[in-house]
Amino acid sequence: MRGFVSVDLEGLPFIVNKEQLGPEGRLFEEAREIVTELTLCLCEALKRNGVDSILVADSHGSMANIMPKEMPAYVELLRGYPRTTSMISGAEGCDFAIFLGYHAKGGTARATLDHAFSGSMVDWIRVNGVETSECFLNGVALGHYNVPVILVAGDEALMEEVAPGIERVPLKRAVSRYAAISSSMSVVKRELAEVCTRALERFRAGNIKPMRTEEPVKIAIRFAHTESADCAELLPGAKRTDGKTIEFESRNIMEGYRTMELLIFAIYGARA
Ligand SMILES: [Zn+2]
Repeated sequence: MRGFVSVDLEGLPFIVNKEQLGPEGRLFEEAREIVTELTLCLCEALKRNGVDSILVADSHGSMANIMPKEMPAYVELLRGYPRTTSMISGAEGCDFAIFLGYHAKGGTARATLDHAFSGSMVDWIRVNGVETSECFLNGVALGHYNVPVILVAGDEALMEEVAPGIERVPLKRAVSRYAAISSSMSVVKRELAEVCTRALERFRAGNIKPMRTEEPVKIAIRFAHTESADCAELLPGAKRTDGKTIEFESRNIMEGYRTMELLIFAIYGARA
């Protein structure tokens, strides 16, 4: 059995500010230790429960955060950016997926570093009228590959967005966008391993199904700046619905996901 683990940083315990989020930050090394320790804990729990191969997709920022030397022989590590399908690249053909360190969508109250895909470029993304978190959009896109998400571990504020039936572990409780209460790493690791075991049992019993959304799929993106919408409305078939918002339709969620990635790349390029 092969598992896929997509790992973000903002929803991990003790991660609360931008100094921890990238190599230019003074606390980045601390974040690297935390993400590595928890990724390893999760992989060990999977291995103990009979998963013999795991692809870990390092999926935050430059996507090179996890310390590669700490990964055991049964783990492959996908690092670096860009990737065709961003945080879920490599999941095709895996039996199940787990999201670790995920955070709430932009605009959520008392949620650490809330955003979706690009905090500086995107206000919100709607899929078939539903405002989505990275968790939801990645989950339904994995549904296209028939890969079920069996466990989501991250910010407590994200937990209510997690689809019913999927196991969840809150890793910290946000007090504000830049402050949160976290339990000790030993407690977090114990809970993560326990819920991982339960998720696998329920998955093996056939009780966790892939997430789906209606197709063809309508995607709306509200950007943070009007010039981003100026650029995005060049997409054939796209409709500008107001100064900062465009809408487009895709045949299926994976095509929509790739289009969204392309737009974000184009806008980064245009702003640069
Ligand atoms: Zn992130």
